[in-house]
Amino acid sequence: MAGELVDGLVDLVLPATCAGCDVLAARALCQRCQEALARARPQWTRPDPEPEGLPPTFALAAYAGALSRAIVQYKEENRHELTGALGGLLARVVDRAVGGGAVVLVPVPATAAAVRKRHGDHMLRLTRAAARHVTDAVVARPLKALPRAGDSAELSAARRAIAAREAFAVRPDRAAALRRHLGRAGAAVVLVDDIVTTGATLAAATHRLAEAGVRVDRAVVLAATQRHRETGRRGR
Ligand SMILES: [Zn+2]
Repeated sequence: MAGELVDGLVDLVLPATCAGCDVLAARALCQRCQEALARARPQWTRPDPEPEGLPPTFALAAYAGALSRAIVQYKEENRHELTGALGGLLARVVDRAVGGGAVVLVPVPATAAAVRKRHGDHMLRLTRAAARHVTDAVVARPLKALPRAGDSAELSAARRAIAAREAFAVRPDRAAALRRHLGRAGAAVVLVDDIVTTGATLAAATHRLAEAGVRVDRAVVLAATQRHRETGRRGR
């Protein structure tokens, strides 16, 4: 009886399998997946076609392999124990994107429905974890997500851009606080998301922030889908 109870507790505390490759593992990511992700070199990336107004965007790697599996496990299977590992990886992308100095990290906000489904705002949690690994970083939340109208996959690029902008609203008081902070500190503003696909979301959030007087300098993501060109050479 006592033995069963202890076993049950261990199951609750320790993930049974690696989120990157499904082997049995004592930690959220096995040694092999950790090493594979540690070898990834963050690169400048851009969707093809590139949406108007997309800031220079950096990704840790392509959306594939252990990285894509870990993101899905974190996001859709609520494996929050991946927060530290994924946040650390995101911090490396931030360092690559801005190359040091003060940074304000702005996570792309989740809708209320997504927050309920995922037991919290998954990008806010990741961004806070990333900030702990960046020398001079604060997290700001000047945007909120509005309920989504529907799937935008079938829309033209122009209509998708409009739909994406309608997905966000500025929080005026928080935007004002951010502008004051930037006026004092002169930090780089970095938009943070998990995946970039068409770039419409990042471009839309950038547009909304520009309307509120906040210029986004860079965007960083963990993974870029395969429709992207790696443009690391030009980004250096
Ligand atoms: Zn693994």
